[in-house]
Amino acid sequence: MSAETVLAATGITKRFGGLVALAEVDLSVGDGEFVALIGPNGAGKSTLLNVLTGLSAPTSGHIVLDGRDVTRLPTHRRIRAGLGRTFQHGRLFPRLSVVENIMVGAANRTGRSESALRRHALAQLGRMGLEHMADQPISALSYGNRRMVELTRVLAGEPRVLLLDEPAAGLNLGEVEDLMARLRAIRAEDRVAVVLIEHNMGMVMRLAERVVVLNFGRRIAEGTPAEVQADPAVLAAYLGE
Ligand code: ADP
Ligand code: MG
Repeated sequence: MSAETVLAATGITKRFGGLVALAEVDLSVGDGEFVALIGPNGAGKSTLLNVLTGLSAPTSGHIVLDGRDVTRLPTHRRIRAGLGRTFQHGRLFPRLSVVENIMVGAANRTGRSESALRRHALAQLGRMGLEHMADQPISALSYGNRRMVELTRVLAGEPRVLLLDEPAAGLNLGEVEDLMARLRAIRAEDRVAVVLIEHNMGMVMRLAERVVVLNFGRRIAEGTPAEVQADPAVLAAYLGE
């Protein structure tokens, strides 16, 4: 890896009773790097994101964010230290307006005054082409727009590492193209590192610099999109699905 490492998980094991969801998994992400995390259903991808963000404690292993061991830090402290994530099933406040939801996301991290938060939130919405929705309640938005608002909310916290769990799930083709364009722009402007869990292989191939493949909780491959796509172990894992 060329860039300085911003996030490193080492030897992560996670057991749920007798089930080993993750077995000695390593994942490191360079500053500004775009890494895709792929693997069949049940491979442990979401569990790894939960461990990285502190929603779930690893059975063993360590997580270092920006040179600091955060393994025992609660989620809100990791967010303050630069982690941002979206969920496979979105988590917005349905009765608050779009701009209010973004303000909540920014407040987690920045501690600005309310008027400064609103300006910041509106600027973030503008960047995503969503400013015309600012005063609508979340409940009035389409599913695709909610996903974009969720992404905007996480970005408003100005993360150094953005963790995305299947952001394209349920989006139509136009929305997926729009999401990819936004992700490219965000990377160019913010130099944020991205860990993307995604089943849409076209999206992975077009966006990721490096791909890490999990299967049954183990890391079975790593490489460029082209390398991973041609890897017999990866093909076998997906055929077995
Ligand atoms: P993926 O996101 O790759 O589809 P998950 O990380 O959601 O996979 O799940 C990995 C494995 O861990 C699966 O077998 C799943 O059933 C199991 N698992 C995930 N979360 C829990 C939990 N909270 N309790 C018990 N088993 C879990
Ligand atoms: Mg998952």
